[in-house]
Amino acid sequence: MGRLVMKFGGTSVANIERIQNVARHVKREVDAGHDVAVVVSAMSGKTNELVEWCRAASPMHDAREYDAVVASGEQVTAGLLAIALQAIGIQARSWQGWQIPIKTTDAHASARIVGIDGSEIIKRFKERKEVAIVSGFQGIYEPTGRITTLGRGGSDTSAVAIAAAIRADRCDIYTDVDGVYTTDPRVVPKAKRMDKIAFEEMLELASQGAKVLQVRSVELGMVQNMPIFVRSSFDKPEDIDPHGTPPGTLICSEEEIVESQVVTGIAFSKDEAQISVRQIQDKPGVAAAIFGPLAEANINVDMIVQNVSEDGKTTDLTFTVPAADYTRAKDTIIKSKDHIGYARLDTATDVAKVSVIGSGMRSHAGVAAEAFQALADRKINIRAITTSEIKFSVLIDTAYTELAVRALHTLYGLDRD
Ligand code: ASP
Ligand code: MG
Repeated sequence: MGRLVMKFGGTSVANIERIQNVARHVKREVDAGHDVAVVVSAMSGKTNELVEWCRAASPMHDAREYDAVVASGEQVTAGLLAIALQAIGIQARSWQGWQIPIKTTDAHASARIVGIDGSEIIKRFKERKEVAIVSGFQGIYEPTGRITTLGRGGSDTSAVAIAAAIRADRCDIYTDVDGVYTTDPRVVPKAKRMDKIAFEEMLELASQGAKVLQVRSVELGMVQNMPIFVRSSFDKPEDIDPHGTPPGTLICSEEEIVESQVVTGIAFSKDEAQISVRQIQDKPGVAAAIFGPLAEANINVDMIVQNVSEDGKTTDLTFTVPAADYTRAKDTIIKSKDHIGYARLDTATDVAKVSVIGSGMRSHAGVAAEAFQALADRKINIRAITTSEIKFSVLIDTAYTELAVRALHTLYGLDRD
């Protein structure tokens, strides 16, 4: 007997029939003798609709009221799942974030969890075998007593945080895919599902564009050492042996991965923009003059490359920002033109970032060099490069994204046979 958190995303609770399907997944685990807490998202599309309603009511709305509105989607699914469970003879009770409570910061619309009291849930496990159904994505800022939300995709983070608070053995994330793949299977049909991946690697994959899990949930899993199992909610509940190993991907600590590979996965993101500041003086303080104002404007700069200008005397600085911040970033640099002192600004929005991830890179030399050659063989020009301990990324023209991802997937032996 163990203790589980089961998290179901929007597509898994998209209508009443699917909620009833979720109830049967939960029943299976309860019947197997486990204590179960369930974390639910809003029905798919619901949060988008609620966000849109706020915008329609007024583009400049109060973030506290935005939270009051968008948190309601999860309230509905938690109640409905409790009803569906009770209907099949399972004791269940729904919980809103404030009822637990899930305490957060006061950063409305992007709050962080600061503490969860799991004692009442545990007490009810013991006293009456009651399943707790917790609304994901939401919490409370205690000093004001107001509802907060955790940012889009936040119910993954709710689930991992609840799992830590009730000291669960594992946090199961049920979603519309049956695990984490070596890359997006829609781009590379030969992509493989991984059985296991280390927290660090998953963190990089998620940060570099893989959309399976919210980045913060992985971060939290790593800090709390809470194993996260990504699996499909579309498998028939009755066909799954609760004591067997179902298809899925376990995100766990590196020590638990016996057979580690040099490269585990390839991520890509087309939501990038490049800005090159041309012909600036090569002297102390220039980088600060460029990146200071960007930081103040809350713009996240990702890749940075500095090289000699065409004239051989000055220097060029190239960097990337998320496409959503492109216009603001460009305006910020133009505003600081006199202070920075540059000749020209070149920009591009048709760029993509392809990232290769694997903890084996720590101990293997030349992993990136092979990629650069493979891209050169295909006449793909690299605009910028960044590396970290277990990852490197290249910036290329968007048109070559699929070609590059496929080439690298094959190069590192990730293709399914
Ligand atoms: N419903 C919220 C969203 O769509 C939270 C979540 O599903 O994770 O962002
Ligand atoms: Mg999600």
